[in-house]
Amino acid sequence: MATAGRVRAYVGLGANIGDAAGALAAAVHALAALPGVRLRGVSRLYVTAPVGVLDQPDFHNAAVSLDVPAGPDPATGAIDLLVALKGLERGFGRQVRQRWGPREVDLDILIFGRHAIATTRPPQGRSDDPAKASLPLVVPHRDAPHRLFVLSPLADLAPRLVPPFWGETVASVAKRQRAIEGRDAVRPIATWDGERWIALQEPPLG
Ligand code: ATP
Ligand code: CA
Ligand code: CA
Repeated sequence: MATAGRVRAYVGLGANIGDAAGALAAAVHALAALPGVRLRGVSRLYVTAPVGVLDQPDFHNAAVSLDVPAGPDPATGAIDLLVALKGLERGFGRQVRQRWGPREVDLDILIFGRHAIATTRPPQGRSDDPAKASLPLVVPHRDAPHRLFVLSPLADLAPRLVPPFWGETVASVAKRQRAIEGRDAVRPIATWDGERWIALQEPPLG
């Protein structure tokens, strides 16, 4: 349980440009360093095989659990977290582009305690993409139950959690989605050792 005045939040991380694993490792450290935030868990690192166009970078995904300040009310607390995430995304975009070429980190709020939230956001919380700038913040993340690249890392952290509206556990939704997308659609490739990703052994072929 989160301590008083805090909420257990789950954040989904994604990257698919350049050194995506390195970008996500840096993002985990940056999340842990946010003021008032305590990092509670880090999922395995997953690779999502590209579908259709095969010569594009693999998508890398992970999730973290965080204890974050609850705020005066859930909507305000969640917006504060979103504003912090958007600030990190922008910071990564800038830094990384200058040093090692293009790279993007996407940080989404998957779950914010037991709260169901749908709210408008302040300018800092908006997407840089104008087409998405007027979207409300919706938590739990609307597409999470349909995305194996979200469900698999989330199931590492909280398999028995029943998010608001879901009506079943993360593990059971993940299992169903795995049956739809296929076992190899989203593959774990590394675990977090507290500092960095440690590659998992490849299972023998055949
Ligand atoms: P997707 O929602 O399909 O994962 P995306 O992450 O690729 O989309 P963004 O450019 O990051 O798209 O913008 C999504 C928009 O949705 C942003 O304006 C963001 O503020 C908003 N949004 C709504 N709900 C959430 C949430 N739970 N977490 C993060 N952003 C959210
Ligand atoms: Ca996203
Ligand atoms: Ca996003």
